[in-house]
Amino acid sequence: MLTHMTSFADITTIGVGGPIARFIEPTSRVGVIEAVEDADSKHLPLCVIGGGSNMLVADAPFDGVVVRDARRRITVPDEAAPVENGERIVHVNAEAGCNWDDFVAFTVELGLEGVEGLSGIPGTVGASVVQNIGAYGQEVATTVESVEVWDRRDKKTLDIPATDMGFGYRMSRLKESMYAAPATPAAEFFPSPRYIVLSVTFALRHSATGTVGYGQLAKALGVEVGDRMATKAIRDAVLKVRAAKGMLEDAGRYANPAMAGTKRDDQLAIARRAQESMPDYNRHSCGSFFMNPILTPEAAAALPEDAPRFDATLPNGEPGVKTSAAWLIDHAGFHKGYRIADDASAGLSTLHTLALTNRGNATAADIAALARVVQDGVEAAFGVRLVPEPVVVGLDLR
Ligand SMILES: Cc1cc2nc3c(=O)[nH]c(=O)nc-3n(C[C@H](O)[C@H](O)[C@H](O)COP(=O)(O)OP(=O)(O)OC[C@H]3O[C@@H](n4cnc5c(N)ncnc54)[C@H](O)[C@@H]3O)c2cc1C
Repeated sequence: MLTHMTSFADITTIGVGGPIARFIEPTSRVGVIEAVEDADSKHLPLCVIGGGSNMLVADAPFDGVVVRDARRRITVPDEAAPVENGERIVHVNAEAGCNWDDFVAFTVELGLEGVEGLSGIPGTVGASVVQNIGAYGQEVATTVESVEVWDRRDKKTLDIPATDMGFGYRMSRLKESMYAAPATPAAEFFPSPRYIVLSVTFALRHSATGTVGYGQLAKALGVEVGDRMATKAIRDAVLKVRAAKGMLEDAGRYANPAMAGTKRDDQLAIARRAQESMPDYNRHSCGSFFMNPILTPEAAAALPEDAPRFDATLPNGEPGVKTSAAWLIDHAGFHKGYRIADDASAGLSTLHTLALTNRGNATAADIAALARVVQDGVEAAFGVRLVPEPVVVGLDLR
């Protein structure tokens, strides 16, 4: 087990956040459980972190324990691919600390279909199921078979089948356990879930082709939505589209000793090439900073006619309407590249209104100040309070 000094600025993609009192990197399954259980039994604040790509942490010292699972093994128990429901399904298990994009690359190399559209999403396998990552027509939920967790309340390990994971739009039973209300931490477990992911088992189709599920992607590939293409071609196109929108993490962060060894070297070289065209000042973000709001039909009716509207389900299970946070932000007057002041070190990405970026030496307070200005502006214009997508620690962005 490794323990050393570090700060959240070193281990988060947005590059802000205070020093950490105790940082632990367990290298075994029992080591992860012991580190979590030790902190819990002493009632210390506990943060289990993956790639730090969905976290905004305050500048003040974190007087608790941060655990980062150093296990990154991927295993394929049944490569012979038994036929299930007429399809050849291959089960792949990945340990929680495995870099997500390394995992995607592994499955594509193995000739498996199911997660190629999620290429280039930063972070780890463990966190992928916490907010049910999604992009370009795919969500991780559709390929998850089961999730092996440590239950911090009942103090035992569990295998949660995907059907019991409570997956929804950027939501799962795990994420739910952290919040009392939107953006309102539940004191007991926050900033990490009640269930700590130890590994995830995926069920992937044995196929070297995948479905192009999203318009922008189809355009980049010169095909129609619904067409089938080599998964490798889909992966390459996703990385290109992501780079054009500034939606790749800064590959340079892995040169920081606190991040060393957390991503495969060959994939790091690919990541560096993929983002050559991305300006440096767009590279330090949490990706989309706000979730697309899901509104009641009445609230949605009050939006301007040209606001995007998609069918969705409200948290209470009733029909709702999803609109676009990026559209609301832009139409409230916050355009790409917006900054509170000309010399501010936090700003909206110049490539994507939804990403709040650290342009070099921003603090967490600078990012939070920008987030509040955007939230207040959108609320004043449209009566909708945007909810942050990242886990916000030590700052209030309700
Ligand atoms: C440039 C960029 C682009 C992005 N694009 C997308 C996108 O297209 N789609 C999308 O869905 N997301 C996107 N994200 C958000 C982010 O990549 C995902 O949410 C990712 O899954 C976070 O993984 P992580 O390992 O970095 O989690 P962290 O940021 O380290 O942690 C996030 C939360 O998960 C918890 N957690 C971490 N590991 C575990 C574990 N083992 N067990 C239990 N809880 C755990 C943490 O405690 C915390 O609450 C993007 C982010 C960036 C920076």
